[in-house]
This record gives sequence, C-alpha cells and structure tokens, in this order.
Amino acid sequence: MEKVVARARAAFNSGRSRPLEFRIQQLKALERMVKEKEKEILAALHADLHKGGPNAYSHEILGLLAELALVMEKLPSWAAPQPVKKNLMTMRDEAYINFEPLGVVLIIGAWNYPFVLIMQPLIGAIAAGNAVVVKPSEVSENTAKLVAELLPQYLDRELYPVVTGGVPETTELLTQRFDHILYTGNTAVGKIVMAAAAKHLTPVTLELGGKSPCYIDKDCDLAVACRRITWGKYMNCGQTCIAPDYILCEPSIQSQVVENIKATLQEFYGEDVKSSPDYERIVNKRHFKRVMGLLEGQKIAHGGESDEASCFIAPTILTDVSPDSKVMEEEIFGPVLPIVTVKSVEEAIEFINRREKPLALYVFSNNKKLIKRVISETSSGGVTGNDVIMHFFLSTLPFGGVGHSGMGAYHGKHSFETFSHRRACLIKDLKMESTNKMRYPPVSQKKVDWTKFVLLKRFNRGRIGLAVLALLGVVAAVMMKVVY
Ligand code: NAD
Repeated sequence: MEKVVARARAAFNSGRSRPLEFRIQQLKALERMVKEKEKEILAALHADLHKGGPNAYSHEILGLLAELALVMEKLPSWAAPQPVKKNLMTMRDEAYINFEPLGVVLIIGAWNYPFVLIMQPLIGAIAAGNAVVVKPSEVSENTAKLVAELLPQYLDRELYPVVTGGVPETTELLTQRFDHILYTGNTAVGKIVMAAAAKHLTPVTLELGGKSPCYIDKDCDLAVACRRITWGKYMNCGQTCIAPDYILCEPSIQSQVVENIKATLQEFYGEDVKSSPDYERIVNKRHFKRVMGLLEGQKIAHGGESDEASCFIAPTILTDVSPDSKVMEEEIFGPVLPIVTVKSVEEAIEFINRREKPLALYVFSNNKKLIKRVISETSSGGVTGNDVIMHFFLSTLPFGGVGHSGMGAYHGKHSFETFSHRRACLIKDLKMESTNKMRYPPVSQKKVDWTKFVLLKRFNRGRIGLAVLALLGVVAAVMMKVVY
C-alpha cells in the first residue's frame, strides 16, 4: 500500500498530471476504455447485480459518457484563472483564483453502482490534475476486478493505481497520507474514514446514505406520481442511495397510492417480476437477510415473496407502518416501500425534521407553493419536486449529502472544484509605494479614516462606477503623498 501511494505521489510530484493537454488526453483514454470495453463492463455488472444490459448501460455508462464529454469541453474554461472583483486598494493589481490540483486523491467506491461510483469522481479528480488511488468495492467483486484490469491498460499506471480488497486493505490504505478522500458508502464507515483522514488533516467528501422521504400531497396526479416513484424505488432492486425510502401521505389516499404502484409494477415488470429482465437482485445473502428481517410484523399490502438462493425479493409495499418500527429506523436499501400516514403537510415536515437530514427528499403536489414550502422548511442533500432521482442527472447541480447523509459534493464542475484548491492570487507591482503608507506605522486616526474610506466605499458596476473608483484611487494616492 505504502509503495502504491508513494509511487502515485512521486508521479504527481513529477508534474505530469498538471498540463491541461495531459488531463484531456487521460480523459479521452477513459472514454475510449468505456466504449471499447462496454461488453465486459456490462457482463461484470450483470454478474454482480443481475443488471440487464440496457439498464446497466443507462445507469452506469450513459451518464459517464455525458460527464466525460462535458468535462472535456468545459475544462479549459473551468481551469482558467478566474479574475475577481477588486477594491480601491487593489485596483491596479492582478487578483484571481487559480484552481490547482490537491495532490494524491483516494476514491473509495460502494457496491450498488460499482462502476459509475468510481468512475465519476475519477473523472473530476483527473480533470483537476491530481494523482488518484482508486479503491472499488469488494462486494461487487467482478466489477472491482475489471476496473483493476482495465484502468492500467488505458491510463497512466503510476498516477492512477487501483487497489482491490475489503476491510483490511481499505483500513491499511487509510493509514496513508492523502490530499483528499472521496468515500461513498454507509454512514458508520464514513465516520471511520473521517477519523483516519483527520490524523493527516486530509479533507474528505463523504457520499453517504440515509432514509430519503417522499411526501405525496392529496392534491396530486397520483397515477403520474406513483409511476415516477415506482421507477425510482425499485430500480436496482431498491439499492439506490437516493431511492425514495418511504412514503408519507394522508390516510385518505393511502389505498389509492398502493393501487397505483401495483398497476405500475405490472406495467414495468409484467405478471412475473422474477422473470423480468429489468428487475435486479439483492447483492448478497447478508443484505437479503437484512432486508427480509425488515418485513417482520409488517402489514404487506403487495409483494413480500422472496427466494434466498437467487437473492430475489419481490417489489413490496407496506401500509400503516408505525414510525417506531424497525423498517423506519435504518435505510432500507432494498425493494420495500413503507407508507407512513400523516394528517397534514405540517406533520410530514415535522416528521422529516425529527430525523437525520436525508440524502434526498421528494415531494409530489399540483401545488408548487406547497413544494417550495416543504423545501424551505426542511433540509436534505438534494430535492426533486414531482419526480424522484432526477436531480442526480443534472450535472450543473452539486450532488452530495448534508449532516448524516454526507458532506461535500461532486458532478460536473462541482467535481472539478471538489478536487481543486482555490488558490487566492494577488500580484502587485513595486510602484506607487506612497499608497501603502496608510498601513505602515506610525499609525494615526487620519490613516484609519482614509483606510476606512478606501475599503468601505461601494460602487455599482458599470463604466461610471469604475471611472469614479479610478478617480478616487488617484485622489487617495495623491492625498497619501501630500498628507503623510
Ligand atoms: P460497501 O460495503 O461497498 O462499502 C463501501 C466501501 O467502504 C468499500 O470500498 C469497502 O471496502 C469500504 N469499507 C467497508 N467497511 C470498511 C471499514 N470498516 N473500514 C474501511 N473501509 C471499509 O458499501 P455500503 O457501505 O454497503 O454502501 C451502501 C451505503 O452507501 C448506503 O447507505 C447507501 O445509501 C450509500 N451510498 C451512497 C451514495 C452516494 O452517492 N451518496 C451512493 C451509493 C451508496
């Protein structure tokens, strides 16, 4: 481990990951890898999660190709020095933000979208000019093995090594010093990662999970709402970090919600869900048993069938679920959808605010004011109104959690910024020394008054404002010369 990280650091220190042309060339190579090895990637995803080809392609490849295209197009403008507004004291200077790479980044992925959860942050880290140690999840072992095989064939081997393995390997890796760690996974391990990072004062981005609520207002097109919810809840067999975890609605619409979801399940997966090529499986027996355990003592309104040998759990709906039951304690991460009834939107908001801040929040209503009210009176990593999951796919929006659902964010330009240091740069020349007298001893009230005037004066943008600013600069300089 030590050697791998040391090699990556030496490669970073060589400076070769910094030039824009190099970064774009590596991103192009990554794009070539995804295109040329599409079949192998889809096969690994099928072996790990029983993902059908078209599903796996749209969940794990399509978005990556779009992200790569966006980053390659925009990188020159994102990476360019960003001039900032100046004040009277700095009006003659050069002031800008320079985006520079952090150094050696560690990316730790989770098993549920095992390819995209590694590749998407990797794109941002390469774009920002870093060296990257990649650690895929051992739980999706086929994808992990493939990533370890493919990356060295396409990318600079020293700058972007892959480490495979489970808890012991990750634990050892975490003793090393990194310049940033992006971890995707559960909250308990998030705390372990953050504690290890703290030893080296390494900043972290934690992409965690939690229970993402979904409130359905009674003033709503239930057929449309339930179709969208069914899609987001049962994709990847419920193993999606931003899947709606549970539904909150008034008792009067509960049975209609159940009927609409049942009708959609029939529409999506047919009579026999088990034989549908579009329905995935639970990743392993441990998670199968965990999810099945959540059904104990619950009123099953639909589904509940299972087959341990193939890790199949049917799309399941639970009704009249008590807020104190086990299924409402932990993130479900499986195809089980509890409905908890509330009397009003106020009670729904209170229910959400009594719990940890979720990764995502969903609210369905014909009334946009109600949606905005729920947004303004709650907190979550992200929100989609009148749909689920979709905020994830808009790369101009930062993707990340808040509180127990994580910290930091990535996607698109936000990834580039996450993996960059925003360096404050101010370049002055050695002329006009008299203007600096204001800050040199001996100090006096007059000097303080002038500094106050120069620093606190505000002007609107535009030519007149700038002309006044320039004039005041000259006056200030002259006054300094004359008065002091
Ligand atoms: P996992 O078991 O694959 O673990 C994630 C990573 O942590 C793996 O690479 C693993 O090797 C490492 N790890 C596990 N235990 C460790 C330990 N004790 N010390 C050090 N490293 C350790 O994935 P998981 O945690 O089961 O993933 C599911 C969770 O991740 C859910 O809570 C889900 O909501 C969340 N998630 C979040 C996002 C997001 O983008 N926010 C995406 C996917 C999943």
